[in-house]
Amino acid sequence: MADVASHEFLHIITPLNIHSEEIGYFDFQNPKMSKHLWLYEGATEYNAKYIQLRSGMVTMKDYVEEIVSK
Ligand SMILES: [Zn+2]
Repeated sequence: MADVASHEFLHIITPLNIHSEEIGYFDFQNPKMSKHLWLYEGATEYNAKYIQLRSGMVTMKDYVEEIVSK
């Protein structure tokens, strides 16, 4: 639950605040996938895991194992 909540919440950084022009003017009627999806999902997932480490929700060992598994 914390993983999903952290990830979804941290989408406030990418792509909502840091994004390409095509996402800034996203056409919800005719959606086109961004070639920057890897950046949005990767940065968000990295931050979601890192914030759990920083807050003491996970140990360094668990954090490293999770990052290595990705
Ligand atoms: Zn995501």
